[in-house]
Amino acid sequence: MKTLGRQTQELIEKLPDFVVVLNAAGIIMYSNQSWVDYCCDHQLSNSLWKTGSDCLENLVDDRNRERLKWSKNPDTGAVEDSFQPSSVVFKNFSIRSRQFPLEEGAAGIILYIHPLELLPFQSLTTASILENMTDAFYLLDRKMNFQYVNSNTESLLNVTKEELLGANIWTLFPQWTGTRSYANYNRAMQERVQIEYRDYHGPSDSWFAVRLVPVGEDGLAVYYQRTSNDVVIQQALTEYASTDYLTTWTNRRKFEENLEMLLKQDTPLSLLYINLDNFKHINNLYNHKTGDEVLKVLAKNLEKILKPYELAGRLDGDELVLLHLRKDGEELDDFPQKVKEVFAQAIILENSQVITVNASIGVSLYPQDSSNANELITFAETAMRNAKIQKGTSNSFFHSDMGTDLARRLLIERDLSGNLKAKGFHFVLQPQINCSTGETDGVEVLARWHHPKLGPLSPLEFIGIAEETGTISHLTKHLLNEVFSFLKYNHKLYHGVPRTAINITPSLLTSRLFFEDLFRLMDKYQISSDWIEIEITESEELTVSEVTLENLLACRARGISIALDDFGTGFSMLAYLMDFPIDKIKLDKSFISKIGFNLKSEAVVKSLIQFVKNIGCKLVAEGVESQAEAAFLEMNGCLIHQGYLYDRPLLPETFVKYYLSGDEYENSKSG
Ligand code: C2E
Ligand code: CA
Ligand code: CA
Repeated sequence: MKTLGRQTQELIEKLPDFVVVLNAAGIIMYSNQSWVDYCCDHQLSNSLWKTGSDCLENLVDDRNRERLKWSKNPDTGAVEDSFQPSSVVFKNFSIRSRQFPLEEGAAGIILYIHPLELLPFQSLTTASILENMTDAFYLLDRKMNFQYVNSNTESLLNVTKEELLGANIWTLFPQWTGTRSYANYNRAMQERVQIEYRDYHGPSDSWFAVRLVPVGEDGLAVYYQRTSNDVVIQQALTEYASTDYLTTWTNRRKFEENLEMLLKQDTPLSLLYINLDNFKHINNLYNHKTGDEVLKVLAKNLEKILKPYELAGRLDGDELVLLHLRKDGEELDDFPQKVKEVFAQAIILENSQVITVNASIGVSLYPQDSSNANELITFAETAMRNAKIQKGTSNSFFHSDMGTDLARRLLIERDLSGNLKAKGFHFVLQPQINCSTGETDGVEVLARWHHPKLGPLSPLEFIGIAEETGTISHLTKHLLNEVFSFLKYNHKLYHGVPRTAINITPSLLTSRLFFEDLFRLMDKYQISSDWIEIEITESEELTVSEVTLENLLACRARGISIALDDFGTGFSMLAYLMDFPIDKIKLDKSFISKIGFNLKSEAVVKSLIQFVKNIGCKLVAEGVESQAEAAFLEMNGCLIHQGYLYDRPLLPETFVKYYLSGDEYENSKSG
């Protein structure tokens, strides 16, 4: 005996009823699992569900048997009324039946068996499930051709069954291509995922709940259920107010609400606060559309490691939160690690562009850290900020003394705007000395901030915050004004100034506007291009951004020297170096401090010096602190040194005194 096709079986399994399919002789061809389970649980006879059993014998009396006779044309989908079976085992059931086309055109019958108490009155009198449970139901094959349609589909789509069957859905309804339904159908078919959404149907002015369910290996079942317009609008509004449009994750308000609900259930949980490193650069380097796409893809990738009941939210811009439920008794787990692994994967955009994004992750734990939703979020954010400061490790757990860090950061962030000079912001100068002649070869400008409340701050701290919050351009321009004014004044007074290097952070390199301002300020203060130098660091921007290259070439065209800072810490860029207009390389302090430790590290320094010479760049050693280091460097041909051995960064007036007004400098040395 032939059994039902797999696809049909799967469809039947998805129906909410107990279902039995019989052939024309009343022999069971298929029983769905819930019916089999029910019979077994209630110790009903095998013959009620087993394939091959004569079901009609058991099920119906002659009267019913008569009623079950199907019409000549099973395709019309005419449906019998429900009937009450005669057998006593069925006293608690109602049964409905309809013709069911079996393979190769044979007629069959499908029985929908309902426990009576569960059956709503309405459906007792109405027809088959497929006809009844949805307003329209159809089945598409791999090629998106209609394979099965119910009668309601005809009226919904306003096309007859004959025209629909075998036709391709997009050929028949070209106006649907490119719509949300089009995208959803294709996704459900290709990714084999169930998708539910709401759709408006113009001709009938109705909203439908649409359910797309993959069946078999390559089929797609489509269910349309009419919903009340009010309900839809209400739902849509609530959804809109609580959903982030980009990621479809919850927004801040909804996330907090959900978190509060979860906290009431007292399950241990980890809250991960994720901030994308330099996301602003992606927006600048490419454009906001790309930035949005990156976020979307990331959200999709992160969703894959979430369990269905775990939460994901986008609080703002590139601030994401994930809520992971820990198992009872489990202190910590590998979830943060899993999240990091997601970030380790490259992101492939629609145009096949590949982008990698790093993230700083902060974690707070319930119940250990707090049982208050707001606090848990703030604590995880604080831990994330901490992770950001400690570059290299991008993962940090909250601990209680971090609360003060957050207040501190907020204060710094707030004070980075407005009149910086009035807030204690200034600069110092550190000379670069030629060790064999003792002459000043150049000088580096370093920012300093004596904060009114916090006291002296490290530039590593406030430059980082300025970079993240976008105030770095304001800060650097302020510095340029101060430095240029200083240079102009002293050049006039002393008939020359050493070449003065200014640090430019990676995000500014990608800004055309910033460089326009730089050139404008040079004109304003009449700064000759050989008075200054810009210091840039090896970074992603250098290699991927065309704007960066344009900006650097514009500097080169004007004769502004370009120095590459912290050289040796980002080896990956070595190969690119030759393509960039770089005049000077600053050998990072970490290499200099290795001098004198062992032969191997000294050999590395030697080969780096050699490399820089080979590519024809000038060379400066940074952080030279001892005579031994200076001697080693000199012996190996690196003559320009910057470091505490020669001088600490000096206040401008001190610098002038020692390095510009030559007589006093000599006197002070001997005095
Ligand atoms: P950097 O550009 O590598 O600057 C050199 C750093 O090394 C300075 O730290 C300097 O004070 C320190 N240094 C110089 N000689 C020695 C030495 O012999 N031993 C030791 N241990 N350190 C030495 P500082 O001033 O704290 O600045 C730290 C970083 O902050 C700078 O590193 C730079 O990346 C950034 N920074 C400072 N000022 C600015 C600025 O105006 N703009 C930008 N974008 N970044 C700045
Ligand atoms: Ca520097
Ligand atoms: Ca440096």
